[in-house]
Amino acid sequence: MQPSIKASKKIEKSQYETYVILAGGRIRCLRCTAQSTRTKLQCGRPALLISRTQKCQFHGGGISSGKQTQEGRERITQSHIKHGESTQKVRLEHSRVSAQLSQLEDAMYLLNMTTSPRTRGRKPSGYKAIRSLGDIKQLILETETH
Ligand SMILES: [Zn+2]
Repeated sequence: MQPSIKASKKIEKSQYETYVILAGGRIRCLRCTAQSTRTKLQCGRPALLISRTQKCQFHGGGISSGKQTQEGRERITQSHIKHGESTQKVRLEHSRVSAQLSQLEDAMYLLNMTTSPRTRGRKPSGYKAIRSLGDIKQLILETETH
């Protein structure tokens, strides 16, 4: 084999074998049109029926492969949501409220409103320690009012 010829060899669209014969000549079906990067030969597998581009399952013939619309992506996202508790929007909201709650706890200790044990563990992201009365005023001003 000569590598220089092999590298430049590319199958034209008209040279593709459209059909593949399987099961000893009993089954005739569409053949995958993918080309091997290593051997430059056409893939020998049958194409999937659902494939728009006549490809097998190893070369992007699946229903979700290829060009996708924004509407289709949103439909896929909606189908994967089971209860809505773990979407990114919900997680960010939970983190924001947790940080606010930790800051309120700090304010309660600063104002001697409680003597119960502090909440243990890592503070949520977005948490800023409340250490003075000025911080409490700032927290009240920043807090959204309903
Ligand atoms: Zn293939």
